[in-house]
Amino acid sequence: MRAVFVALAALAALSCAPPRAPRAEPPAVTQCRYDVRVASQRPLLLDVTASCEGTALEGLGYADARLRSYVVAPTESGRALREQGQRFELAAPKPRAAFRYRVDLERFAREHGRFDLALRSGESVVAPASSFLLHPLPLLPETRIELRVQATGNFGFESGLERRGDGYVLQAHEISVATYSVFGRFTGRTLELPGGRIELVLLDGSPLEIDALASWVERRARWIADFYGRFPAPRTLLVLVPVGEGAAVVFGKLLPESAPGVAVLLGKRTGAEALERDWILLHELFHIGVPSFDGEGKWFDEGLATYFEPILRVRAGALSELELWREFARGMPRGLPALARYGLERAPGYAGMYWGGAVYCLLADVELRKASRLTLGLEDAVRSVFERGGRSSDVWSLDETFSFAERALGTEVLSSLRARHAERPTPVDLDALFAELGVVVREGNVVELRNDAPLSAVRAALVKPPPPSR
Ligand SMILES: [Zn+2]
Repeated sequence: MRAVFVALAALAALSCAPPRAPRAEPPAVTQCRYDVRVASQRPLLLDVTASCEGTALEGLGYADARLRSYVVAPTESGRALREQGQRFELAAPKPRAAFRYRVDLERFAREHGRFDLALRSGESVVAPASSFLLHPLPLLPETRIELRVQATGNFGFESGLERRGDGYVLQAHEISVATYSVFGRFTGRTLELPGGRIELVLLDGSPLEIDALASWVERRARWIADFYGRFPAPRTLLVLVPVGEGAAVVFGKLLPESAPGVAVLLGKRTGAEALERDWILLHELFHIGVPSFDGEGKWFDEGLATYFEPILRVRAGALSELELWREFARGMPRGLPALARYGLERAPGYAGMYWGGAVYCLLADVELRKASRLTLGLEDAVRSVFERGGRSSDVWSLDETFSFAERALGTEVLSSLRARHAERPTPVDLDALFAELGVVVREGNVVELRNDAPLSAVRAALVKPPPPSR
């Protein structure tokens, strides 16, 4: 058997031409151009044409099953596509195809009424682009998508997607996480910041004028720019959505893994004072400078935003140091069960993710400052990751994030605390840590700060802005 094989191999070697590099297969889908036309303003109906090129186009698909009820079955050259699970398929693969479909965004908004799916607010509808774009099949990471939206007259369109000329660009794999867009009649402002700009969109129903809201947003965006050294994204869409009869900012969300878009819901009785007290906008903007994590590390992402947001307010003079510790004394104990019972990576629920993550950040910040004689802190780790390109628009692994940070800082404090508090359950004695820092907490969340505690100087360093040269 072996001899026969050797003989055949020798024959093959004699008769073969010199080996050639394997030819790279051209991609099945190279690019698509999506044209979105507003077919009706109210009810809001969109007609989408997706013209794709490649070698073997198979059809269109979607990641979120909730979309299906609002998509009128797509066609190609006037022929209906065959529906198979979450796919609309051509009868046979083609090198070129122009798909057409309609999306009933009005009914999507009426039946779900969620700003991360579709939400009507007065004369506008806010919806992530993932709620009206189907993706080409096969879904390839390298397929480039160009998007144009035809909105006419005073019926406008704005999106957080990356602008290119008079349209937008993205990769096909980003469609299922594509960020917010707005259709309708709204007020817009562009806020120029060091390192980037915010496209501010205000939907109707707000008790406050756009000028007051724009200056609130701009001040907070500048605190973020001070932290990172510049605003962390070249272009960010921020949609302010007035909802309900409340008198405060109610909720906010940054959509990760896509060009940054933030939606903030505010009650229709929100006044200037409530804006001053708000923490939500700052928390969401903070996320833009930190990479996204997939299937891990949510506690780190949310912990950082929860921990640094009030520190930034102290630095800006919007919160006193005493109030900061009052907030930490109220919030951090909520994260302790997650640390003691599960470890942060496996802890269920939001309290562990946000406040457990914030406890981790406090432990890390204190350790880093102690070890460096107050010259380095957790923010140096965050900024080093940001300088290496970490952004909410990209997914990084926790391992690579930690290794960049630790190489920059020359320490293993972050990963040893991660092993201790994220990978396995380990209780944290928060009272003892607070006492060492000179934070005395009495009944009823009465907090007193002492400057004669062993780590009082560390506590003072936590809120001090770093010198500009760092
Ligand atoms: Zn968050």
